[in-house]
Amino acid sequence: MSGLWPNRTKCVVMLTFDMDGASGLVRRDPSITTRPSVMSMGDFGPEVGTPRILDLLNRYGVPSTWFVPGWIAERQPAAVEAVLKAGHEVAHHGYLHEAPATLASREEEAALLDRGSRALERVTGETPLGYRSPAWDVSEHTLGLLAERRFVYDSSLMGHDLPYLVDVKTGRMSGAQQKAGGKGRGAAARGRAVPGATIVEIPVHWSLDDAPYYPFNPAVGRTSTLSSPQAALETWLWEFDMAHGDGGAFILTMHPYISGHWSRLNGLERLVRHIKERPGVKFMRCLDVAQGWTKGGLRPHAATGQRPPRS
Ligand SMILES: [Zn+2]
Repeated sequence: MSGLWPNRTKCVVMLTFDMDGASGLVRRDPSITTRPSVMSMGDFGPEVGTPRILDLLNRYGVPSTWFVPGWIAERQPAAVEAVLKAGHEVAHHGYLHEAPATLASREEEAALLDRGSRALERVTGETPLGYRSPAWDVSEHTLGLLAERRFVYDSSLMGHDLPYLVDVKTGRMSGAQQKAGGKGRGAAARGRAVPGATIVEIPVHWSLDDAPYYPFNPAVGRTSTLSSPQAALETWLWEFDMAHGDGGAFILTMHPYISGHWSRLNGLERLVRHIKERPGVKFMRCLDVAQGWTKGGLRPHAATGQRPPRS
């Protein structure tokens, strides 16, 4: 055991699904709502891909996290209800899939953030506590706005491949947390977020996302060659095997409108089987990892990449 995770857990796996549906397409070009072919490609995600993925997760007993734009909660509420009913986490993914860095002002961003939360609350009855930025492109205001609204975590940054505490002012790993890694004193040393100053980051990376592998959509100018699910799976297996060997974390992003198609779902099932064959693996929802972090149940070394001495 590396000593990073509690008890006998060697590696934590977080499977995440961004239920974008048609939101990203409509955000980019509102006239797309008059083009049924293009809209149907997005609608496939909440309406067909999501139940297939939920079935797969249920068969393997795997919890997961779903990031949902508010517009989707209004357009396809049954899909969001199904995710919640199956015991998965529903988290925030903008209102109409707006990348915060492209918005005109802090006020506009705050209004859209709150609009997205209200739309999710109307379906789930719960305030979302996790946030993932559309396009993984937060603004200088985003992390502060999340902290003001008591979000527990963000999942939009790429500063590590383990969870870490991020300074909401700078967007960088918390300085207090970095120092605490070697000293083991104070709230930060126990892995606690400093209220209003830091937030837990559940990091992402483009290589651990289905979108770069399968980007074919002539309607928005994406006409590069499709990768086979085998190519995506190979990268993900190699990443998981190293993370598992190192006692780290494996955080994967998928989209139901992409990975809900059979060939990609086949790849996901092979990945889940491979992971479940390895010892000491725990599948977790992002919120459970983040709350464990803030309550001090997880060790500070994770936030710095530093390891405790092996015993
Ligand atoms: Zn998205």
